Amino acid sequence: MHNWAGNVEYRAGELRRPASVDEVREIVASSRRVKALGSRHSFSLVADTDGVLVSTEALDVPTELDEATGTVRVGAGSTHAALAVELQRRGRALSNLASLPHISVAGAVQTGTHGSGAGNPALSAAVSAVEIVRADGALELVRRGDEAFAASVVSVGALGVVTALELDTVPTFDVVQTVHQGLPWTAALEHFDALMGRAYSVSLFTRYVGDDVDQVWTKARVDDGGPTLDVEALGARPAEAALHMLPDTAADAVTPQLGVPGPWLERLPHFRAEFTPSAGEEIQSEYLVAAEHAPAAIEALRAIGPTLDHVLYVSEIRAVAADDAWLSPSGGRQSIAFHFTWRRETEAVLAVLPSIEAALAPFDARPHWGKVSTLVRDELRGRYPRLDDFAAHARAVDPEGRFRNAWLDEHVLGA
Ligand SMILES: Cc1cc2nc3c(=O)[nH]c(=O)nc-3n(C[C@H](O)[C@H](O)[C@H](O)COP(=O)(O)OP(=O)(O)OC[C@H]3O[C@@H](n4cnc5c(N)ncnc54)[C@H](O)[C@@H]3O)c2cc1C
Repeated sequence: MHNWAGNVEYRAGELRRPASVDEVREIVASSRRVKALGSRHSFSLVADTDGVLVSTEALDVPTELDEATGTVRVGAGSTHAALAVELQRRGRALSNLASLPHISVAGAVQTGTHGSGAGNPALSAAVSAVEIVRADGALELVRRGDEAFAASVVSVGALGVVTALELDTVPTFDVVQTVHQGLPWTAALEHFDALMGRAYSVSLFTRYVGDDVDQVWTKARVDDGGPTLDVEALGARPAEAALHMLPDTAADAVTPQLGVPGPWLERLPHFRAEFTPSAGEEIQSEYLVAAEHAPAAIEALRAIGPTLDHVLYVSEIRAVAADDAWLSPSGGRQSIAFHFTWRRETEAVLAVLPSIEAALAPFDARPHWGKVSTLVRDELRGRYPRLDDFAAHARAVDPEGRFRNAWLDEHVLGA
């Protein structure tokens, strides 16, 4: 029992795959320790337990779209890929997606997973209601507007097992994806806000060495009238063939580029849904800072870039709009996210993380809950104004600590 990347071994004595909500309720009520498991795409020990792991993969919850409100009810274990196909068939869309569509909807929401776009908040911002099995086995519905909602959406599995979510949808839309290479850092930093806001979704790929941003990926809505900032005038050149974000890697797995229009679900993720990622030979980390600090944060990372080179595949810089979930890494502040894809060398990764965390400390960087960091609760309390309130709420809904694990104690809840 290990995660997708193979860097985390779950300690659970048992893995259950309930098919019904009643079965989830029975498992939770009869287990001393229990933890929900999504599609296992986290790199941290966030989903670990020494009790029973409850996979939501086989949960039989039909996807139901309310045509009048545009709200879709979806089972917790559904992947974004499966949900997106169904929504597209009905003329609807999610406003954003993560880079990989194979991730479970509830797992993504629980860790504050995001895509890119200065106007696009984390995926959890689309949630309008959460159906959750509590520690005593009771099924509760927490709706947007309820007092506990801001604590319940991004809650890293600490409040119960989510069985279904209600999500806002929007009318379907088409996107064109283009890639540019060699944008000089001087120009990127001078025009940073305009660069990240030049289209619906923008990602910068870099290794923090050299004078240029390696790749700029732009996903523009066809109905938006095209990107606003001309990156070619700033020195970037358009890619002549489809590119993978990793150097010297075939582009078969990435979504279509080269300005060919296509539906949102085939352009917003970086990776194709039909591409089955096998054992991921990688580890990921990510830190979010308030957008106004991004240029200074980039300079701090460029200063240590050469010391990361031996273990870093690539880093991705994305914009994330503010939301109001207590534990959202982009909660309460317009953010820029610094993502790192590392070689799967745990010791080497753990050795370089403190230098990144020190470089980003002046900007109160918040780590992605599903990725690897060495920051613990005492450091995070000052960066999450509602962390103590969340811990108190978790104790109130789970007094016996059924959903606790060592990772939660260390990072979120305290002893
Ligand atoms: C290749 C790759 C690309 C990625 N791209 C992005 C990206 O673009 N943006 C980004 O922000 N992140 C990204 N991630 C990280 C990923 O989105 C998160 O780690 C996410 O939480 C994984 O979801 P999961 O279903 O695999 O959850 P798991 O790893 O299985 O679990 C994560 C947490 O969610 C909880 N959880 C899961 N299901 C439930 C449930 N039903 N009820 C209650 N709690 C639950 C678990 O208990 C655990 O605490 C990527 C990861 C990979 C491997």
